[in-house]
Amino acid sequence: MSPAALPITPGDAPPPLRLPEPPLLFRARAERLEALASGHAAGDWLRFLARLARGQDRAVRAVPSGVMPRPGGDGPPLAQAAARRDPAWRAMLAAVLAAARGGALPAAASAAVARLEAASPDALEALADDVLAGAPADLAAAPFVGAALQAHLTRLAAALEPATPAPAGAACPVCGGAPVASVVLGDARVRYVVCGLCSAEWHVPRAQCPVCREAGGLSYLEVEGGPRGVAAEACDHCHAYLKVFDLAEAHSADAVADDAATLVLDLLTGERGFLRAGANPLAPGGERA
Ligand SMILES: [Zn+2]
Ligand SMILES: [Zn+2]
Repeated sequence: MSPAALPITPGDAPPPLRLPEPPLLFRARAERLEALASGHAAGDWLRFLARLARGQDRAVRAVPSGVMPRPGGDGPPLAQAAARRDPAWRAMLAAVLAAARGGALPAAASAAVARLEAASPDALEALADDVLAGAPADLAAAPFVGAALQAHLTRLAAALEPATPAPAGAACPVCGGAPVASVVLGDARVRYVVCGLCSAEWHVPRAQCPVCREAGGLSYLEVEGGPRGVAAEACDHCHAYLKVFDLAEAHSADAVADDAATLVLDLLTGERGFLRAGANPLAPGGERA
């Protein structure tokens, strides 16, 4: 679960926004990925993602913070930071690539690391634009670039003052990015939608679809015999779905790690005609190892 977790007791109004704690988040994610990899059909791939998370952890500790651009207009406070990036994110990419090299890599990933290490700043910025637009042409390079952008924006999000977020449909009210999944917290049964990019979490009442905000149209799809506390919340109104991890049952679940480890649920939900609303910058194309 998110290291930013605050104890929320039943009856209290849940905080509208929870901001990440990067020094804890990426280390916990790496450990979660390593735990999920054990005995998993895609174990090697999850261990590869764990190395990327270790690189993110190193990056948020070692790379000096960049400049936080002034928010422009009424949009999400980090929208400008995502669009006009401080070069710090490229130093974070170097840390992610170094961590990736720390273990065996499939040929495509190995070639992508070499490509990224040799790429000019302009080429890297163009790749980052592609990844942020959700349409990376270079799928083998996308997880590394996504990991670096995630580390960069998560650290910027951590430096914000928590405020009441303006409703922004399915998009993150902090950076404008796409959600990766939701989590339901402990005894209070409160649902937070988790941003795949800046790791902010925003409260959406459980009756509402986290994508279109219509109430009363959600059904819960699960993999028979699958891990406990994992479901796809599928909406009859907008026909989108987002996974939800119930932390009362899936105690150590992490939205990004557990999303990557439950691709079977995506297949089954897709077969029922629902469209995935979640975006996972660490695993944009699913398992490609
Ligand atoms: Zn965000
Ligand atoms: Zn909906």
